[in-house]
Amino acid sequence: MRKLVLIVIDGLTPAMLERGIEVGFAPTLSQLAAAGQLGRAVSAFPSLTPVCLTTIATGAQPGVHHIPHLVWFDREQGRIIEYGSSFAAARRSGALRWWRDTIYAMNAEHLSSEAVTIFEALEDQGLRAAGINVTCYRGRARHLPVVPGVAPPVLGPSRFFFYGLFESRDAGTSPTAVFKRASGSVDGYAEAAARWLVTRDDFDFLFYYLSDFDFISHALGPEGADEGLRRADHSIATIVEAAGGIDSFLDRYDVLLCSDHGQTQVREGVQLERCFSDLPLAGRRASRRDQLVVTASNRAAMVYRLEGCLLENAELAARLERDPGVEVVCYRDGADAVARRAGAELRFAPAGQGWRSSGDERVLDQPRARERLWSALENPNAGELLISAAPGIEFADIAGRHHAVGGSHGSLELGDSEVPMLAVGIERLPASIAEIAPTVLRHFGIDPPSYSTVPSLAA
Ligand SMILES: [Zn+2]
Repeated sequence: MRKLVLIVIDGLTPAMLERGIEVGFAPTLSQLAAAGQLGRAVSAFPSLTPVCLTTIATGAQPGVHHIPHLVWFDREQGRIIEYGSSFAAARRSGALRWWRDTIYAMNAEHLSSEAVTIFEALEDQGLRAAGINVTCYRGRARHLPVVPGVAPPVLGPSRFFFYGLFESRDAGTSPTAVFKRASGSVDGYAEAAARWLVTRDDFDFLFYYLSDFDFISHALGPEGADEGLRRADHSIATIVEAAGGIDSFLDRYDVLLCSDHGQTQVREGVQLERCFSDLPLAGRRASRRDQLVVTASNRAAMVYRLEGCLLENAELAARLERDPGVEVVCYRDGADAVARRAGAELRFAPAGQGWRSSGDERVLDQPRARERLWSALENPNAGELLISAAPGIEFADIAGRHHAVGGSHGSLELGDSEVPMLAVGIERLPASIAEIAPTVLRHFGIDPPSYSTVPSLAA
């Protein structure tokens, strides 16, 4: 059984990777592409990192894994959960809560027990799994924080390096990495941990997550992030060299490489709350008089109806639909989902292996839109209404921050929803990020969880 390295470069678009390979400023990625196959795949919705990394790590769509967005409303606790739309949003939501929600609760409380992570599935079969900086890290091994008391103990893979907060071994990494992000220190930390693991060949499966590209692409826009790809290439070159060069690296490991979502250029940030300026909206906590909660960040938003809300989903959708910042609004109506866009409507529901639908098919011309929306709506932590932003628009977060003029993602649109997919030693390229976990498990001879939808190799 061959070992496998899964590399996820956050926010990398297929066009950027293809250009880096063609023009030659991503030499290590070029070597990997030459040794394997390169294609494109579809992300989850909303196309935001906590949702998509969880889909990659579990093979589940949001309706199964229950992580709905970067920011969402916990109906039971009556408060906003914020994973870090921006530093200002994290402060606004309550810095201590943000810290606990992001570092601990996302895995220990929010991630559904129905979902199975790659780490859990592999280590249950006696294989050694390693995770570096992956936000969906749930595993079987208990880890105490490096600095006692800064976080509760967590369950992760047996080999676990997480932003200097949790480290299964002392690998000589710098625990201050997380605080010097703009200088590339987060991926620098990941590199040091990965170099240590590869040098010792201390795993059967390694999930190597590189997050700095997304940070650079948000600032400079997806077309201008060449420097981000150069750095990511360097992070990959580090582990290739640690194995003794590309030939010995590929002798030892098969490789899957992708991103979690794409990015598109945004020119304007809008406050989606403006659609409901006459209604009492909840802030970070809901009070009895509040009627709605709007959770928005990047290019996706959700609207939650509270107990006292007098407006029906259709009326709320009609208001949202008229806003020029909104492209698609979607909600459940009985057994159907309703998607609205610029006055047109499409109703749909699963039927057999496909969909039955009525109305205007042009409402949902984005990649795998029915399937992604349906699962997003089935998520018990999602709002009643899901909103995908119009091209060039970003929804300001709880602190009013956005990335205009720069790059963003989150919508159903192709540019936000398409990822590169590169495989060496893997027979079939995953067509969706949800097919990665089952592909990895099958590679190790393990049956994927029953919710997984990847076609079998024999099909
Ligand atoms: Zn991002």
